[in-house]
Amino acid sequence: MKYSALILLFFFCSFSLAAERPNIVFIFTDDHCQQALSAYDARRMTTPNMDRIAKQGMLFHRCYVTNAICGPSRAVIQTGKYSHLNGFVRNGNRFDGSQQTFPKLLQAGGYQTAVIGKWHLESTPQGYDYYDVLKGQGPYYNPPMLTAGPDGEPVTRQHTGYTTDIITNKALTWLKQARDANQPFMLMCQHKAPHRNWMPGPKYLNWLDDVEIAEPETLWDDYSGRTSAASLQTMSIRKDLNENDLKLKGYGTMNAEQRKVWDAAYGPKNEAFLKAMPNMTEEEVVRWKYQRYVKDYLRCVKSVDDGIGEILDYLEEAGLADNTVVIYSSDQGWYLGEHGWFDKRWMYEESLKTPLLVRWPGKVQPGSECDAIVSNLDFAETFLDIAGLDVPDDMQGRSLLPLLQGSTPEDWRTTFYYHYYENPGAHNVARHYGVTDGRYKLMHLYALGGERRNDWELFDLQQDPNELQSVYGQPEYQQIQAKMEAELARLREVYQVTADDDLGRNRS
Ligand code: CA
Repeated sequence: MKYSALILLFFFCSFSLAAERPNIVFIFTDDHCQQALSAYDARRMTTPNMDRIAKQGMLFHRCYVTNAICGPSRAVIQTGKYSHLNGFVRNGNRFDGSQQTFPKLLQAGGYQTAVIGKWHLESTPQGYDYYDVLKGQGPYYNPPMLTAGPDGEPVTRQHTGYTTDIITNKALTWLKQARDANQPFMLMCQHKAPHRNWMPGPKYLNWLDDVEIAEPETLWDDYSGRTSAASLQTMSIRKDLNENDLKLKGYGTMNAEQRKVWDAAYGPKNEAFLKAMPNMTEEEVVRWKYQRYVKDYLRCVKSVDDGIGEILDYLEEAGLADNTVVIYSSDQGWYLGEHGWFDKRWMYEESLKTPLLVRWPGKVQPGSECDAIVSNLDFAETFLDIAGLDVPDDMQGRSLLPLLQGSTPEDWRTTFYYHYYENPGAHNVARHYGVTDGRYKLMHLYALGGERRNDWELFDLQQDPNELQSVYGQPEYQQIQAKMEAELARLREVYQVTADDDLGRNRS
């Protein structure tokens, strides 16, 4: 009698534990910036479903990434550690999946875990009960995806359709069919969009055709106010977008039927441009490129937003919404023409900042906003804390739970360390690291094209929010500069960065 009562108690406890512990749905995109998310900036498009998360939850204004590039950002999220410690410093590295990661800890703590969509860490996902991921970068149409076969070994399956929709549908199918109702779950739904080369879905090929998208103030930046690094990049709309990017050529991996739909949309638009081009000034051509590029980018975001709506609707229909934390974020920000650029990589504001929206009914005040400095470095810790699990001491970020509940701890970080390593590499952006407190930003651009450099930039973001004029070395900023230099040295020590790490060597 006593024994069976104990068993009953055990079942009751484990049942209520499962019922109480919140589920986590992490929706993640690739290269989506705050400038194309209407809860942050409504000048270019509306994203009603992302905005729904913001309206029902919290919007973070200053979510900074530690290293503004795809693979490294994902490795930081898996581990809660900076690139130099998790070993994935630049795209092309291979993630060491044998190390401690948050999905493994969630799994051990009783969570069912799944990752669907873009993975981009080269090695097979570990710590997931289910994975179904794009191979490498993945195409916009008809993606091959990698999943565990019947014997547990990875197998490649070919899919037909638009990749964003396929990823959304797979996430929905997993929620509907594969989820274990007796366990809390953590689902990562990770899109390829709106990564280059911005191929819109069939539904949006002509969306925004009759609209002129506002140009950023710094579209015509001449880089004269900074070190030469900014002028030596190869990511400018003027000279570095190719015919594929501009949809003047190429179909990617589309099939014949998809090409037909594509041609019907882009054919007449391209014909009109090619006819007018001989009589256009260089400035007019740049303006045309900007419109073409930005519209395609926004079109890609639109399909992601639709998918988010479907997932939010399903969570409500299934009665899961109240006990599920929904997080929306991207691996880093992006230049929508600011400084004349596309792409990311720099510590300048547009790529340093990434969107972060969190909805958690009953816990997070609807429509709330947070100005504290938070980071993708904090995501792993936050997920573990949400699940009621311990955060390992060697993780370098901090749980956002108190901020989500409306109070920023007194000892919350007020400065942030950044480090980008991928040079030599695509777009020729100098290796650099730096520190910001939100008001000032100090950057050390220390290597470019295999050559060591010792270039420094300092910005006063209040006086110069567009970061056009470095004030490094100016007498009136002497004290600020010294303070930021000291803080940079302190943070490098706190995060265990060595001079060897600057060279991007893997510690393993
Ligand atoms: Ca990215």
